[in-house]
Amino acid sequence: MGCCRPKRPMLSLARVRWRGQRESDQVEDRRGLRVGRGGIALGGGGLLLLFAVAVLTGQDPLQLLQIVAEPPQVSVEGESEGRRGTPEDELGRFAATVLGSTEDVWRRKFTEKGGEYQLPRLVLFSDQVASACGFNSAAVGPFYCPADQKVYIDLSFFSDLDNRFAAPGDFAQAYVIAHEVGHHVQNLLGISGKVHAARGRQSEEEANAMSVRLELQADCLAGVWAHDANRATQLLEAGDVEEGLAAAAAIGDDRLQREAQGYTVPESWTHGSSEMRARWLRRGLEGGDASACDTFVRGAP
Ligand SMILES: [Zn+2]
Repeated sequence: MGCCRPKRPMLSLARVRWRGQRESDQVEDRRGLRVGRGGIALGGGGLLLLFAVAVLTGQDPLQLLQIVAEPPQVSVEGESEGRRGTPEDELGRFAATVLGSTEDVWRRKFTEKGGEYQLPRLVLFSDQVASACGFNSAAVGPFYCPADQKVYIDLSFFSDLDNRFAAPGDFAQAYVIAHEVGHHVQNLLGISGKVHAARGRQSEEEANAMSVRLELQADCLAGVWAHDANRATQLLEAGDVEEGLAAAAAIGDDRLQREAQGYTVPESWTHGSSEMRARWLRRGLEGGDASACDTFVRGAP
């Protein structure tokens, strides 16, 4: 492991039409700030990003996958909040625009159901960050922390892509943010809370199966966002949907395991197979209906 450059096709880089659209001011810019050393955690979207970065830079994602861990509960005293508002650089503005678009879509959907959407905050960081879920290394990619309702992203991953391809705007990047926001939606709806509460009473296999359902639902919710955002602002260009599906398919547990160890163990999956991830993303994308994202019904995923 770690010896070989992964042999995978490059993801196509479809653009997102983000310029001129509303940028969220719920961004906390902690790039350049230093925090103490600590544990590491891997969000589901982190896998996608790891994969995308590995493909584009020739690094081995499997090495990084070895460090998957639950976030440790540690104090985050002394952590600076960083600059609040809307970033001024290209990558920061792109992330703020995608976040703003998720705010518009989910606010509307919650209001339609008589609810109120609480805005999550997006924390941009570099190298490592302290959240209410612990200290996390940038190597593991984006994650959502339910305890502080924030999505954490190290944009240096995006930055690598940016340097190679001249501009941000790749749908795969937007999808990563939307997936993490999907976890925020699950948190507001009490879904992730129930799943975590049940964890102590379950076998590892059962807990993994629940994790798969949670992750597939976040994929589906990301698809719902893309559907509505596209309808409202023609956010996506032709080819983006296919790119999103390809990205989701590329990071299924089955494919990652087969590449890591030559075989797959479905009982140990935590995010779902390539086919499942692409299928649930498509379901959200095609209908734009969050209630169709019920990955917890009997028979699913
Ligand atoms: Zn996830």
